[in-house]
Amino acid sequence: MTQAFDMVVVGAGMVGAALASGLGQNGFRVALVDKQNAPQFDAEAAPDIRVSALSAGSERYLQQLGAWSPILDLRATVYRRLAVWDAARHPLSNLIPRTATEVLFNAADLSATHLGHSATHLGHIVENRITQQALWQCAEAQPSVTLLPGTGVTALESAETHATVTLDNGDTLTCQLVIGADGAQSRVRDLAGIGVTRDQYAQQAMVVSVRYRGEAQDITWQAFHPSGPRAFLPLHSAGDAHPGESWASLVWYDAPETLARLKTLDHEALLAEIQKGFPADLPPLTHIDARASFPIARQHAKHYHHRRVVLVGDAAHTINPLAGQGVNLGFQDAACLQAMLREARRSGADLADRQWLDRYEQQRRPANRRMMLAMDAFYYLFSNRIPPVHLLRNLGLGAARALPFARNRVARYAMGIDEELPAILKQITSRLPGLNQL
Ligand SMILES: Cc1cc2nc3c(=O)[nH]c(=O)nc-3n(C[C@H](O)[C@H](O)[C@H](O)COP(=O)(O)OP(=O)(O)OC[C@H]3O[C@@H](n4cnc5c(N)ncnc54)[C@H](O)[C@@H]3O)c2cc1C
Repeated sequence: MTQAFDMVVVGAGMVGAALASGLGQNGFRVALVDKQNAPQFDAEAAPDIRVSALSAGSERYLQQLGAWSPILDLRATVYRRLAVWDAARHPLSNLIPRTATEVLFNAADLSATHLGHSATHLGHIVENRITQQALWQCAEAQPSVTLLPGTGVTALESAETHATVTLDNGDTLTCQLVIGADGAQSRVRDLAGIGVTRDQYAQQAMVVSVRYRGEAQDITWQAFHPSGPRAFLPLHSAGDAHPGESWASLVWYDAPETLARLKTLDHEALLAEIQKGFPADLPPLTHIDARASFPIARQHAKHYHHRRVVLVGDAAHTINPLAGQGVNLGFQDAACLQAMLREARRSGADLADRQWLDRYEQQRRPANRRMMLAMDAFYYLFSNRIPPVHLLRNLGLGAARALPFARNRVARYAMGIDEELPAILKQITSRLPGLNQL
C-alpha cells in the first residue's frame, strides 16, 4: 500500500512526536512512524529508568503544544533548587566550607526575568515515557497526523519532486520531506548518506532507579568526584504502596571498568556501594528498582539536511548528558524547523527547499554546538582534577575571584536557567582542546 503525506517523521520519541504534533496543528499532513508501539503509563508501576530534566523553555514549548497539562496530570516532579559542587578530597578539604566550592540556585532567589515565568521553580524531572505518551496523544488528536507504530524504516529514496519511504511491513509512504527524529543511531541519517563527527568520552553513565526514606525532595544536585560526577534527580512520592518513601533517579559517571563491576553486583551490594560512594546529601536508600548504563559521546551530524531529508534531536546531535540538556535542545530544533516549514509553505516553496532548510541549520547548528562546548566547560570548571591556579591559567581567567563567577555563569547556561550565552563561556571554550571540528 502507498500513502501520500506532506512529511514523514521517522521516530516518535519525545522530539519526533512533539514536531509531528506541532506540524499537525499547522495543518500539514504528517505520517509519524516508530518501530516501537505506543508508550503505556501505569500509575502503579515503578518509574521509567529514563528521566529528563525539562527546562522552563521546554515547559513553555510543551504548553503551546497542549502536552504540558497531560504531563502534570500523569506525573512530574518540580525542582526549585539546583546545586553543583566539587567533591574531590584534598588536604584543605576540611578547612574549606562547601559553600566556597558550591554553586546553588534557588528559584526563590532568581528573578522572574531570568526564568521567563513566575519564579516558583527551575524545572521538572519527568519520566521520558510520560512525556512521550502525552506527545503521542497530542499527535493522535490532530486529524492530519497518522500514527504508524510498530514499524521501522528499511529504505528511503529522494527524487526530483518527492521522497519515498519504505517500511519494514512493505508499505511505502511518499512525501515532500522526510524528517529523521530516530535518535543517535539514526537509520534515516545513514540512508541519506549524512556522516557524523563523534568523540566518545572516557566515562560512561549508569542510571539507577531507587527509593529512599523521606518526603519527595525539591532539589537536584550533582557532585564532581575525581572519577566523575554523581547526580541526584528527585522523583515523586512512592504513595500508599511504600508509605514515607519517595523515588529518585541517580546517575553515576565513571570509567567503563568501574561501572561494569558495579553492574554485576546484586541490588543489596550495589545499594551499599552507592551509600558509600555518594555524598552525605543522599537520603537513606531503601530499594533499587532498575539500573542501566549508557556510553556517552559527543556526536554531531556533518549536515542537518540533504536532498529531501532533514534531521532533528539526537539524530542530529548528542551531547554529554551531564547537565541534562539533550531533549531540551531537540525541542528547540523541532520548534525552529516547524517555523521554517510554515514559512516555506507560506512562500509557496517545496517543503524540501534548500533555502528554508539552510536557515534551520544556520540557526540550530551554532546553538547546539554552544551547548556541547558548555558541557565541556562545565565539566572542566567543576571537576577539580586540575589545581585551581592552573585551571585559572589554562582557561585564561586572570584572578582567583573569577573562578566562582565563571562557574556560576557557565552552570546557569548549562543547566538551562539562562538562555543567553555568557561571554565568559566563549573565553573558556576557545581554550578547551579538541572542539574545533564540531
Ligand atoms: C544517561 C542519560 C541521561 C539523560 N538525561 C537527560 C536529561 O536529564 N535531560 C535531557 O534533556 N536529556 C537527557 N538525556 C538525553 C535525552 O534522553 C535525548 O536527548 C532524547 O531522548 C533525544 O530524543 P529524540 O526523540 O531525539 O531521540 P530518541 O529518544 O532516541 O527517540 C528516537 C525514536 O526513534 C525510534 N526509532 C529508532 N530507529 C527507528 C527506525 N529505524 N524506524 C522507526 N523508528 C525508529 C525509536 O523507537 C525512538 O522512539 C539523557 C541521555 C542519557 C544517555
